[in-house]
Amino acid sequence: MSITPLMPVYPRCDVRPVRGDNCHLVSEDGRRFLDFASGIAVNLLGHSHPGLIGAIQKQADTLMHVSNLYGSPQGERLAKQLVDATFADTVFFTNSGAEAVETAMKTARAYHQSEGSAEKFEIVTFNMAFHGRTMATISASNQEKMHNGFHPLLPGFRYVEFNDLDAARAAVGPHTAGFLVEPVQGEGGIRVADQAFLKGLRDIADENDLMLILDEVQCGVARTGSMYAYEQFGIEPDILATAKGIGGGFPLGACLATEKAARGMVFGTHGSTYGGNPLAMAAGSAVMDAVTDDAFLGHVREMGQKLRGRLEQFIGNYPELFCEVRGLGLMLGVRMTVESRPFVAHLRDNHGLLTVAAGENVVRILPPLVIEDAHINEFMDKLSAGASDYKP
Ligand code: PLP
Repeated sequence: MSITPLMPVYPRCDVRPVRGDNCHLVSEDGRRFLDFASGIAVNLLGHSHPGLIGAIQKQADTLMHVSNLYGSPQGERLAKQLVDATFADTVFFTNSGAEAVETAMKTARAYHQSEGSAEKFEIVTFNMAFHGRTMATISASNQEKMHNGFHPLLPGFRYVEFNDLDAARAAVGPHTAGFLVEPVQGEGGIRVADQAFLKGLRDIADENDLMLILDEVQCGVARTGSMYAYEQFGIEPDILATAKGIGGGFPLGACLATEKAARGMVFGTHGSTYGGNPLAMAAGSAVMDAVTDDAFLGHVREMGQKLRGRLEQFIGNYPELFCEVRGLGLMLGVRMTVESRPFVAHLRDNHGLLTVAAGENVVRILPPLVIEDAHINEFMDKLSAGASDYKP
């Protein structure tokens, strides 16, 4: 037998982290890495935040899991925190981002069905999007590399160019239920939506009674310098999927919706064994306690501006390697003129720096949101050293 006990779907590198220390990771062989990947936008409070650890420990000691058949003081608390901090009136908790997006899509369909418009089931999505790895969420993306081996895809999706409002308008027809869009595409290469594009989608949705669903799984929860990125675009969605950062490292996602959008989500229509379990709720509440604070959000914006400024200056020294800095807050990307994946591996293996590759040859920079100036200095030192001895 040659298959490994861990199903070999990931091209795993030989860094084997065993311990986290604030913004650093320590591997099994003792190497220390500056973590500007944060488990792909997850560990927003770093790896050893006392508030988050204490909340999980306390809850684990008290009650880890009960069924959603019972009342949930822990779930009510976190749902209220999310409702108070956002556009939403109601929340469904999941264990992952893909499940949050699935719930969002079901919510949109259920809305139309509750309105007597069962023919409105199709969701318009945008090229280079990433919404997860379940059958529905790969079907929601135009990226063929995720489809290979899994056909037939689920019907009910139309793909159009990101940031192309005319194409989005043209895609709307009698079957359209809504739009599903990332305000900042993560896997697609840190592609920020144009303000006019998101506003335009909001207008088209309003004119046609469609659901505007935002996938803020990667860009949400203070990552871009506001609680959710949509706040910076002057719009509000009907439905929003959140995950990753919301648990700070504990598996947690949520689908947020307005009362109107959630009209079809009535008793018996949806569920999850683990979704909303007390342990996840404790983690989520600890994250919300930390991030729903003007000083915290101000810190993210300040660090984001500093890091971006340093990166913009830096890429000018290496025009043969880098061509653009883009992103919002601490969700940044540096676009390379060469393939980014081998450079990300070079930074990791030779300079102890963790980043993530993304589409369009972008190096994704997703540090914990609690970084300080010293981490930015360390990052820039490692990045400069990596650029100066890199042989593409
Ligand atoms: N949506 C976006 C924008 C993502 O970036 C991701 C994960 O990278 C997902 C959905 C899927 O989340 P998960 O891997 O938790 O299912």
